[in-house]
Amino acid sequence: MKRSVVVTGSTSGIGLGIATAFAEAGDNIVINGFGEASAIEAAVKGLEAKGVQVLYHKADMTKPQDIADLIATAVKTFGGVDVLVNNAGVQHVAPVEEFPIEKWDQIIAINLSSAFHTMRAAIPAMKEKKAGRIINIASAHGLVASPFKSAYVAAKHGILGLTKSAALELAEFGVTVNAICPGYVLTPLVEKQIPDTAKARGISEEQVKTDVMLRLQATKEFVSIEDVAATALYLASDAAKQITGTSISIDGGWTAQ
Ligand code: NAD
Repeated sequence: MKRSVVVTGSTSGIGLGIATAFAEAGDNIVINGFGEASAIEAAVKGLEAKGVQVLYHKADMTKPQDIADLIATAVKTFGGVDVLVNNAGVQHVAPVEEFPIEKWDQIIAINLSSAFHTMRAAIPAMKEKKAGRIINIASAHGLVASPFKSAYVAAKHGILGLTKSAALELAEFGVTVNAICPGYVLTPLVEKQIPDTAKARGISEEQVKTDVMLRLQATKEFVSIEDVAATALYLASDAAKQITGTSISIDGGWTAQ
């Protein structure tokens, strides 16, 4: 049976990769995120080409009302939310004392609070069905820190706490809640922070890749979008039904150190 899968922030990068993997598995998909109308249309068409139904919802993850509408629309269109993937995320790189207040608020809203709002809206129907999977895309930065990323690191550590708490609440309702902690994946989010990191550390952009991003990634390789998507599919599978309240690192050995 086709599942109903909602992926926040899925017009690009990891989110689009996860949406693609679930569409390839035959599930109906709700995608969300910003971007050029033509690019979003192309993403929807690409997913529909896998033979599934696809809905785009433009909810802004800083707006609780939009988020409630996203979940309500998914329930109305596809009869529920079987898999919720909280993926939307942004980054800003600056020292704490220079960190713009509005950037702090935006990162906490998108990278942490939006997952609370989607879960708050989706959980009642999951509990009623006694089934559901919630997958939060955290980061290696949910487990360890790097300098100049205070808001991101705080939000990602927070999402691991939210994951554990919700997992305990939902454990007897057939709903699992887990997080994925990827290391560096070359997506627009990462590409955009290379110039700022170079500036903050006074090094070249190439050195940011080799000396900062891949320094602790023991494999010396970036993680691929497909690696992350495959783990999301696994966490949504029946084989993962006893996995809850935990996180899976896909970081090339970064956090083993
Ligand atoms: P990306 O920039 O390619 O994609 C981010 C997505 O979020 C886009 O679809 C964008 O439109 C959407 N988005 C941004 N602000 C939004 C808002 N206010 N409302 C709705 N959607 C919004 O980034 P990515 O690298 O694919 O990141 C996806 C997730 O993976 C993020 O949570 C990020 O923290 C996490 N992550 C990324 C990496 C990495 O190295 N790329 C590593 C670990 C974790």
